[in-house]
Parts: sequence; C-alpha cells; structure tokens
Amino acid sequence: MAATLGCRSSTAVVSPDTPPPTTATVVRSGTMSGLRIDRVVTSGVFELDGGSWNVDNNVWLVGDDKDVVIIDAAHDAEPIIKGVDGRNVVAVVCTHGHNDHVTVAPELSRRLDAPIRLHPGDQPLWDMTHQGVSYRSTDDGEKISVAGTEIQAVHTPGHSPGSVCLYLPEAKALFSGDTLFSGGPGATGRSFSDFPTIIDSIRERLFALPGDTEVYTGHGDGTTIGTEAPHLEEWIARGN
Ligand SMILES: [Zn+2]
Repeated sequence: MAATLGCRSSTAVVSPDTPPPTTATVVRSGTMSGLRIDRVVTSGVFELDGGSWNVDNNVWLVGDDKDVVIIDAAHDAEPIIKGVDGRNVVAVVCTHGHNDHVTVAPELSRRLDAPIRLHPGDQPLWDMTHQGVSYRSTDDGEKISVAGTEIQAVHTPGHSPGSVCLYLPEAKALFSGDTLFSGGPGATGRSFSDFPTIIDSIRERLFALPGDTEVYTGHGDGTTIGTEAPHLEEWIARGN
C-alpha cells in the first residue's frame, strides 16, 4: 500500500510515513479553513452475485478539528471511530450501496449520532445488507457543509445506479468511491452495473473537473483527473 496520495495543492502537506492498515493517517492538511483529509483503511469481504472477494477499503475523513464527514463505512467501526477522535460527525456518506462501503453505516450512525447519506438509486443494494434501515437521500448537486467549506454530491451511475462522487472544490479533491480508479473505471461486470453508463458519468461529470483535481479512491492508490483523462478512449476500446 502506498504511503500517501500525491498532492499538487500548494497549501497541502503530505505525510511521509507509511501507515499500517486500519490507522487513520492524515494525507492532506493545509491552511484552507483548517481542513484536513484523513484516510482509514479497513479490510473485509465484498459479496455480490454469490461471489465473495477479500478487499481493502479506503474510508475518508474530511473535516477540521471540530467537525468531520465520514465518506464510506467499510467493514469495521472501531478504526473509523478512532480516526474521528471525538469530533462531531456531520454525516456518514456512502459513495454507493455495495456491502463493503456500507457495512458499518448503521453502527456509525448510532454510535456517532450522525445521519447516513446514500443515493436512493442504490436502494436494492442497500437492502441486501441493511434492509429496513433508513437513511437520508443524497441527490445530485446537493452540498454538505463541513469545516467552513462544501462537499458537492455528483451522481455518477454505472458501477451502481446510485453511485456518487463527492467533490470538494476548495481543496480540488474528488472522492470517487468505485467510479474512478488509478488506471480506469470501476468494475461493471456484476449486477446493477453498466459499462456505457459509467463511461458517460466519467466523461461528462468527472473529466469536466480541473485536471489538477486529486482523486481519492474507494480502494487502492489515488490519482488525478489530469492523469486519467487522456486514457478514456483506451478504456472504451478494451471495454472495462
Ligand atoms: Zn463497489
């Protein structure tokens, strides 16, 4: 696992240390509103269509010393709560409804007294893990305020019908869930996924962002919009 995500913001500092898994690591901090981004890595099993895969997930904590938004609720509540470190949790925002991104959303909501946010397009996926548990809808264009700035929801269907990316213009940061990775789009080979749809989302919504936007992914290493954008036609040609 890479120690950090590359950062091109002049106000940001990147931690040089290699984090052990499940430890919150500050990957960016700066003078902007006292904003900082921490990563917690948790491990578990992704299950769909009768298959199961061991996966490491990135959980992103976006906020300042007082307030924080949790992006994804993967696998294990304890390291996430440790990363929150007593701060007020504004929301637990799930980028999509796959079980590995929502595993402990109800537990975090209960223990940290924060609403769960999910795009309703992923209701069928949510029901596979948390049937009957309610959440607040995250709709396209919606803004979530934290640390004196705003996180904007960008609906990017394809990996799943209700996939959203979270865009933080002030920090030129995009939290892409499983829609965009270093080297290509998220997987579309399983139920509720569609390759042409994810390509449209990436082309029209994500590649419209500035090239120096840092991309913080749901799994693995990060990238930038400018690094990925030249490769769109290759992805279309290879079909995944
Ligand atoms: Zn997924």
